[in-house]
Amino acid sequence: MPNEMDSDTYQMAVRQLDLVAERLGLERDVLERLKLPQRCMVVSVPVMMDNGETQVFIGYRVHHNLVLGPGKGGLRYHLSVSLGDVSALAMWMTWKCALVGLPFGGAKGGVRCDPTKMSPGERERLTRRYTQEILLVIGPQVDILAPDVNTNEQTMAWIMDTYSMQVGYSVPGVVTGKPIVIGGSLGRREATGRGVVYCVQEACTKRKIPLHGAYVAVQGFGNVGSVTATLMNELGARVIAVSDVKGAIYHDQGLDIPELLRYHQSAKTVTGFPEAEAITNADLLTLPCDVLVPAALERQITLDNAHKIRCRILAEGANGPTTPEADVILRRRDIFVIPDILCNAGGVTVSYFEWVQDLQNYFWTETQINRRLRQVLIKAFREVYAEADRAQVDMRTAALMLGIGKVAEGERVRGLFP
Ligand code: NAD
Repeated sequence: MPNEMDSDTYQMAVRQLDLVAERLGLERDVLERLKLPQRCMVVSVPVMMDNGETQVFIGYRVHHNLVLGPGKGGLRYHLSVSLGDVSALAMWMTWKCALVGLPFGGAKGGVRCDPTKMSPGERERLTRRYTQEILLVIGPQVDILAPDVNTNEQTMAWIMDTYSMQVGYSVPGVVTGKPIVIGGSLGRREATGRGVVYCVQEACTKRKIPLHGAYVAVQGFGNVGSVTATLMNELGARVIAVSDVKGAIYHDQGLDIPELLRYHQSAKTVTGFPEAEAITNADLLTLPCDVLVPAALERQITLDNAHKIRCRILAEGANGPTTPEADVILRRRDIFVIPDILCNAGGVTVSYFEWVQDLQNYFWTETQINRRLRQVLIKAFREVYAEADRAQVDMRTAALMLGIGKVAEGERVRGLFP
């Protein structure tokens, strides 16, 4: 592995690929190609801070594989962002898009920064300058960005504006997850969480667990976590614990989610919510419950805590929350894992719908969006379940076999490996 890619998360993604390559009998040259990103751009991003000083940030945009279509992937602002992590996230995007049948390759971007310590003006200048620096490798036919950790609709609007100013006309298709008024799609903001819930419903049916009354814990209360908790609550599940970067809260009978959403809007954290007990993020992960939804960052369930996890279904809202070593333990303990590339694919699916609507200038209703999202995810879930049964493997291995298998086939038919 090249030194620049040295990150635990990248190693984890390559390990998953290696394990599945063996099962698929992938040719050595195809495997070597898929282990490395097709293209990485590293940029310096000078930003004038509010105090008049210039700070230079490091940013990345990675195209892992573009064999099935233009790059598609989120943009993350976080202090832990590195080339290796972004490459791993791009690789997972490749498998995810292939798995659910979207005509995209995998991409991801990030800037190493702490946006919580920056003013809106600083965040805007950072976003615009980053966009300017990666302009060569993005575009509606090249690579389309979307929100990820610590970025949102506003971030996408700034990117679209910066890109559009360069070409001289509005190009909504360069980003998805943007505000509706400039070409965003109805249902996109909720899509990832909604997709998590569709997958959980399917898993509950397979495991004969009624979702109504089920006990649910959610790690992370951002876009994915808060929507998942809201929809689960609407379906009658009891969301007994949620968390964010500052800590976790717990109520044995279920939290009042609408009230929590109002509290979160003003407090900007779930901690301190009245009528809930404070617990730690580590406690949340090991609570006895029916469904555990990690919806924060990578590598949360590891060799250290996998034997303490007490859920029946693990629904991976986040990308890469479970390490391969933890997978072995969860499998032994018969915990039903809905793997990330399936469980959180609702976001990129509605991003695809948004991109199609932008290219055609023809917009769909929210009902149409949600119905099509459901169709795509249920079909993918059932294909993964059937593959797991056929190959006698767990759901993650089956999902990766299907996704990686399609990409490898794409490489072969396009003739890269004569
Ligand atoms: P977000 O920035 O909206 O929310 C992240 C949440 O996680 C916040 O509540 C934050 O406080 C919390 N958090 C951060 N570090 C934490 C920690 N150590 N412990 C507990 N909580 C912590 O981000 P998001 O868009 O909801 O993304 C969450 C995850 O879902 C990421 O893995 C992302 O890659 C993945 N994902 C997001 C989308 C999407 O459409 N936004 C789609 C697919 C996958």
